[in-house]
Amino acid sequence: MFLHIDVDSFFASAERVFDPSLRGIPMAVGSRSNLEIFESKRSRIRLMNDNSGAFVAPVFYSDATRTFESYFIDDDGKGERRIRGIITSASYEARACGVKTTMPVAQALQCCPQMVVVPSCYPHYHTLSKALHRFICSKIPQVEQYSIDEFFADVSGWVSKKEVYAFASKLKEEIMQKFMLPVSIGISDAKWIAKLATKSAKPYGVFMVEDIESYTRTVPIEDFPGIGKGFARKLKAHYIHTLGDIKAQKALFYRWKKPGIQLYKRVTGTDGEGISGKSARKSIGISRTFDPIYDISEIKRRIMVMARHISYMAMAISANPTTYYLRIGYENGTRIKVRRKVTRIFSEPLFKKSLEEMFENEEKPYCGAIKLTVTVSDFTKDTPRTLSLLSLDEDRTKRHLTRTMQRLRERFGLDIIKTGSEL
Ligand SMILES: [Mg+2]
Repeated sequence: MFLHIDVDSFFASAERVFDPSLRGIPMAVGSRSNLEIFESKRSRIRLMNDNSGAFVAPVFYSDATRTFESYFIDDDGKGERRIRGIITSASYEARACGVKTTMPVAQALQCCPQMVVVPSCYPHYHTLSKALHRFICSKIPQVEQYSIDEFFADVSGWVSKKEVYAFASKLKEEIMQKFMLPVSIGISDAKWIAKLATKSAKPYGVFMVEDIESYTRTVPIEDFPGIGKGFARKLKAHYIHTLGDIKAQKALFYRWKKPGIQLYKRVTGTDGEGISGKSARKSIGISRTFDPIYDISEIKRRIMVMARHISYMAMAISANPTTYYLRIGYENGTRIKVRRKVTRIFSEPLFKKSLEEMFENEEKPYCGAIKLTVTVSDFTKDTPRTLSLLSLDEDRTKRHLTRTMQRLRERFGLDIIKTGSEL
């Protein structure tokens, strides 16, 4: 038996934990693409590193003093005020007025003018998430943290089938008492069906699937975990709209090999997947959106700043990424996407140099850049010897240097050392 435990509107609920005056009213949490990383002088930096989180970027800049006015309002100095940012989590009272996640804050306030919008504070959410994880682990031996506010638990042999509903209800109450957080819990014999069941449990409820086939028959494919927009489109081209349609098309899914078979098994609850212990990070990335920038050297500088942050995060988890990605979005809608395989020992100088070349080799459109994404993936555990013999000595020296910088940054902050290309 699997439980899937999911906090209702997590960020919004977390804010209510810290500020009880937000309870019972329409409220939401909003975020802006945080551009502080590009500023040359920063104060109030707080670094937070977390190896366990596969979901939230482990580097935070926290500024507890920010208010709605200072965080969301842009003033151009000529009396023009603009509300920026998007909604990242909305309370059920706000949802009742039509407020949705990813809606611009300005639009959400038109839907619900009396709503209170709070600037996001990720370090808080992270701390709360860890405490909740610890608590659930104290109640159930086999727990997998799936995202910042979602957990799978395998209770086989721990709680009998007869008692599992009461067990989940009690757990829900205990979490409310201890943390003031509302969770919903889905229960099923199969892991992914339990996650699906949580949708039926929300808000603040428990839902147990007795019969997988009849429960899933009419569920739209989009509701199933892992079926994104692209996949849903592909399925609809085959007249597949519900999970029942998937079950009826076994041969088709088996023709699609691994991903098709995996989906078929998950949908029918025959995957036999257990919970996995630590979810290993597969990639590290940062993305920033901003007003158009025309100055090529400024774009390059920003890429270098992002490279420093990624390098810090990769070093913090002792990863050796071997694929680098650079994506640039432009205001006319064009995009540059470059990928480079670098099977060498990862270091900040090597990473920066590669990105610089990747950027310089590209033909750039004659318009402003509005979005930058830098990502690394394909972490290798290879011994240095198999990575690249030619550059082994050089790579080792650079890795050593990067490690030294890492130690200084851990003590004094990520801004303490910058290299020439960032200035
Ligand atoms: Mg949630």
